[in-house]
Amino acid sequence: MNSLSFSSIKEIFNVPRKILLTSHTNPDGDAIGACLAMYLYFKSLGHDVQVVVPNPFPDFLAWMDGSKEIIIYDKNKAKCDELFKTSEILFSVDYNHPSRLGNAENAFHHAKGIKIMIDHHIQPKKDSYDHVFSTLDTSSTSELIFDFIHELHPEALTKPIAECIYAGIMTDTGSFSYSCNYEKTFRVVAELYKTGMDGVRINRLVYNTFSISRLRLLGFALSEKLRVLPEFSTAYISLTIDELNRYHHQVGDTEGLVNYALSIKGIKFAALFVEKEKKIRISLRSVGNFSVNTFARDHFEGGGHKNAAGGDSYITMEKTLEKFEHVLLKYQKELSEK
Ligand code: 5GP
Ligand code: MN
Repeated sequence: MNSLSFSSIKEIFNVPRKILLTSHTNPDGDAIGACLAMYLYFKSLGHDVQVVVPNPFPDFLAWMDGSKEIIIYDKNKAKCDELFKTSEILFSVDYNHPSRLGNAENAFHHAKGIKIMIDHHIQPKKDSYDHVFSTLDTSSTSELIFDFIHELHPEALTKPIAECIYAGIMTDTGSFSYSCNYEKTFRVVAELYKTGMDGVRINRLVYNTFSISRLRLLGFALSEKLRVLPEFSTAYISLTIDELNRYHHQVGDTEGLVNYALSIKGIKFAALFVEKEKKIRISLRSVGNFSVNTFARDHFEGGGHKNAAGGDSYITMEKTLEKFEHVLLKYQKELSEK
């Protein structure tokens, strides 16, 4: 398991500090859970702390304590730029490269404060930071935040903090179905339960609060838009803006959709293509050795983990899908191996 030691930075927090916590574009459960756990922790110690994320996050995460205090960079640029400029300590939580900040990247580069990364993605851009806490040997960044709090002030773990950490671990492991073959992750979860946290309620808040139109969009995507390429052990789903509008699309409505494509027997590689205003957003997932991180880096300006990555395409949906199927030819041997 990871052997990160956070004590080396403990002294920085001996006096009240102005702290900025940031996470990546299209924040997910781990990004929001990890940031809010840190936010609640630092606040309880008397620091002046704020959370900034580049763009809006899904409603199904908005129940966490502190979620109403999160500032969206794209909606409040002036205030956020000021926070980047004046903060003494800046945390990059759940991302490995300043470019993952989207429109906020410039503000990060100009910031003068101490920069600290806490993350679990491969190939961290270490030279942009004063301190890097990065490991692949963990379920999630939220688990690393537990380690941080546990090492520095174990008594500071409260029920609201535990709920944020649990939401992060639960979402980044697909409800404990991947990236969690570690005894330690379950020990951490056991510690979280000791605070009186209600894990069943959290599961319901995150997964069972679909709008009717989101559920119908899922039905449409699976019955009309799923394409299976058995010769490549690959399946993908694509959704255009028109189709999304038909189902009154909200932020987060396509979250988790890619996993359905991966749930087909024999499928090793799954992709989801979602049309945005200026690009096609791509989510990639795999099982086994096929690295979607490498695939995303090499062909779609993205990255992530070996089995979960994302990328972008700046051509039309039609051309993007053509490119995808064409690129797949290179991997046919690898993907068809038993
Ligand atoms: P998702 O498909 O859920 O958007 O992303 C899957 C994983 O890949 C997440 O861990 C996310 O942080 C990472 N990821 C998504 N998009 C990108 C990208 O453009 N660049 C990099 N480096 N990682 C990404
Ligand atoms: Mn994560």
